[in-house]
Amino acid sequence: MGDVVMFSLNSFSLKGKNAIITGGATGLGEYYTKAMLTVGANVMVVSRTEKGWDQIRKFADQHDGKASFLSQDVTADGAADKIVAAALEQLGSIDILVNNAGMQLRNNWRDFQDADWRKVINLNLNAVYYLSHAVAKEMAKQHSGKIINIGSMQSYRAGKFIFPYTASKHGIVGLTKAYADALAPENIQVNAIAPGYINTPMTKALQEDPVRSKEILEHIPAGHWADPSELMGVAVFLASDAANYITGVTIPVDGGYLLR
Ligand code: NDP
Repeated sequence: MGDVVMFSLNSFSLKGKNAIITGGATGLGEYYTKAMLTVGANVMVVSRTEKGWDQIRKFADQHDGKASFLSQDVTADGAADKIVAAALEQLGSIDILVNNAGMQLRNNWRDFQDADWRKVINLNLNAVYYLSHAVAKEMAKQHSGKIINIGSMQSYRAGKFIFPYTASKHGIVGLTKAYADALAPENIQVNAIAPGYINTPMTKALQEDPVRSKEILEHIPAGHWADPSELMGVAVFLASDAANYITGVTIPVDGGYLLR
């Protein structure tokens, strides 16, 4: 049995922990990266372009953690092994993986293109499976690790213009459970965050649609769309020792959206 006196704010510290965050320099990923740098983690950001990287580098300079960058398409053949090799070289070990890179393509059901289905599933689901697999093998060697996947409200609800997005985000919940079950004996915890409606470029079209934006707002008990900074605490928590007995869950951060 754990001794309660051993609990302190240090349980939430990520000091000296090494994290890979895909898509970690822009959008919501930027907030996970900054949250982890703030509490002492070293972060390797992975994305195809250096968009946003400069400000992450500057942020890291002003905080405890160090940041590095890898330009890599996570859907490319062999990407997972390349990312693991680069992380071991740049960070020395991998304690945390945040599978954040994701995309959404919208169309009505008649016009939805097969190629668009494949693109979204490849990034939002297949790449998460492959990278988690490669990273888990390294984490298993040290008998510890945290994998954090990113769901959405489409992990629970339909989206009639976003078929592959909805399928991939439902898939994230299942994949999180399957990996959590398989990796628990290796002391690797696998959880997901399901952001609600967040004020970002990805949701710009939705916010500007007068009908849908009104419907969504009426559905949020908190009465407002979230600021991306409202996701920072849960990311740090799930990556920290404070969450060592939590695995296989998807945590909605949605201002109560799912309640209605
Ligand atoms: P953005 O489009 O703003 O950012 C996506 C990031 O992923 C970029 O940094 C991009 O960099 C990177 N990326 C995209 N494709 C690849 C690839 N093939 N290989 C490597 N990196 C890639 O997305 P958001 O911040 O809006 O979303 C992040 C996650 O949060 C996604 O999983 C999304 O589904 C989820 N989410 C977002 C919500 C929102 O309101 N925005 C709500 C709920 C969930 P680059 O282009 O340089 O590769």
